[in-house]
Amino acid sequence: MADSTQNDKTEEATGQLVTHPPAALLEGLGSQGKCKTDEYKTFEELQVAEGQTNPMILACQQCRSKILRAGKATLIAKEVFLPLVSQKKAIGTQPDGETVKDYWLVNEMMTFENVGFSNTVGTSTKYLTCADCEMGPLGIHDLQNPQEFLVAVRRVKYAAN
Ligand SMILES: [Zn+2]
Repeated sequence: MADSTQNDKTEEATGQLVTHPPAALLEGLGSQGKCKTDEYKTFEELQVAEGQTNPMILACQQCRSKILRAGKATLIAKEVFLPLVSQKKAIGTQPDGETVKDYWLVNEMMTFENVGFSNTVGTSTKYLTCADCEMGPLGIHDLQNPQEFLVAVRRVKYAAN
């Protein structure tokens, strides 16, 4: 006798659709802007190659304010002179600085979580600062390149959350 295989049709469609409010979103509204972690990485520890995006959150080295979410900027090699880090009001008043050659490229100002800008220095240069503690320059923006915001990779630290 041939076995007649019985097809048990189990109805799995229960029709239940459970929607949870995204916890991360709700949480974010309370303590907006600051990293929660105490563990930070340096740029070297990320081991990112040119053309890749940032794998972790960019945060202020002074106050852990979040500057940029993960995956929002692209690593580029570009040599630009930046003044030494100081308080925002002193930016542009001192000649000391260094040529920085690795940057995170961001195309839209709205992409940033938190960022501040110095007054215009020279003809069209604005420096990026921390929006909370006002330390900078963390990077540079040339008003003539409205879609190019550069964040110096070694002037921020990196966090997972
Ligand atoms: Zn800060």
